[in-house]
Amino acid sequence: MELCTDLEDVEQLEVVQDRSSGLRAVIAIDDTTLGPALGGIRWRHYPDLGAAAAEARRLARGMTLKNACADLPYGGAKSVIWALPGGPPPAGPVRTAQLEAFGRFVAHLGGAYVPGVDMGTSVDDLATIARVVPDVSCDRTDPSPMTALGVFAGVRAAVESGDGSLVGTRVLVQGAGHVGMALCDLLAAAGCHLLVSDVDGVRARAVADRVRGTVVDPDAATGTECDVFAPCATAGVVDGTSVDRMQCRIVAGAANDVLAEPDLAEALRRRGILYVPDFVLNAGGVVHIHALRAGWGADKLEESLLAIGDRVRRILSDADRTGRTPLAVAEELASDRLGRPIALLR
Ligand code: NAD
Repeated sequence: MELCTDLEDVEQLEVVQDRSSGLRAVIAIDDTTLGPALGGIRWRHYPDLGAAAAEARRLARGMTLKNACADLPYGGAKSVIWALPGGPPPAGPVRTAQLEAFGRFVAHLGGAYVPGVDMGTSVDDLATIARVVPDVSCDRTDPSPMTALGVFAGVRAAVESGDGSLVGTRVLVQGAGHVGMALCDLLAAAGCHLLVSDVDGVRARAVADRVRGTVVDPDAATGTECDVFAPCATAGVVDGTSVDRMQCRIVAGAANDVLAEPDLAEALRRRGILYVPDFVLNAGGVVHIHALRAGWGADKLEESLLAIGDRVRRILSDADRTGRTPLAVAEELASDRLGRPIALLR
């Protein structure tokens, strides 16, 4: 079976199996040039090993770009645990046994990979893994307010780069969850008008009421006219269809993998829509992890989160000056830090 189309760019890819617990997983360490590779554990079903490996590798690359652009001393990694079809990941003793087995494989990597939480795993799971791995990132603090503050700083920088101000700016926040809700609060306090969209209509209404905003039907969100479209829900919101429908000036939000394909950055540019790379904007969570590991106080953490705005300003001005997409400029920033060319993977 072909694992994935191109593995040459990945530093280390481990396919692991533990027959006694039933664990099957892929650990992708994309790059450790800047330090141990940070990246969460995703636990879900994949159609085959190739699909699991491809996702781990693609997400690991995103982590390398995120950590490098945020000027953090970490590389990028991601792992996926492969759940059986037709059901949720296991619970109880089976889950514990699989997590411990996974931890033993991570321990063999000698500190190159520092696992964290991602879709399908929790802080409790990381605590289980920590029984066998000396270094995991499993703090119980919810990073969402930190992520939202970084996104807010980036949105403000993007709006101001067009000589605008947040006052009166119409921002459509897609996904009123942990990050989206906190982002709505920050934007409303800065004078924005919020358009709130969520597949959970009760949640959308509650957040819209709180910020005196307007609810938008989730099916209509990508085609709704606004100044800033802030994806804070699922991946791949900008795809081959939605890109032609979008009626905004700026796309800037917290969601990972906003672009279904990296080439869509150029399609947005051609339409005159400024796309701020997600991995630059949503680095608040990893900045928070570093703050804990380095023992930073609250002031230094906040300063670092707000610095995401300065970074966005520099990226946008460079993109404007050179006629490139902000994605290309952000990839170059990461490449400069790593000392070799690096870009998002398909
Ligand atoms: P969350 O699960 O708390 O919230 C997501 C919200 O989106 C939910 O309210 C859900 O109902 C809604 N939603 C799902 N599909 C939707 C759709 N098609 N249209 C509209 N709403 C939809 O998640 P979160 O922690 O707020 O994270 C949001 C995004 O930001 C995710 O993509 C996540 O990967 C990314 N992110 C989060 C953090 C963090 O610190 N939490 C850090 C980096 C990136």
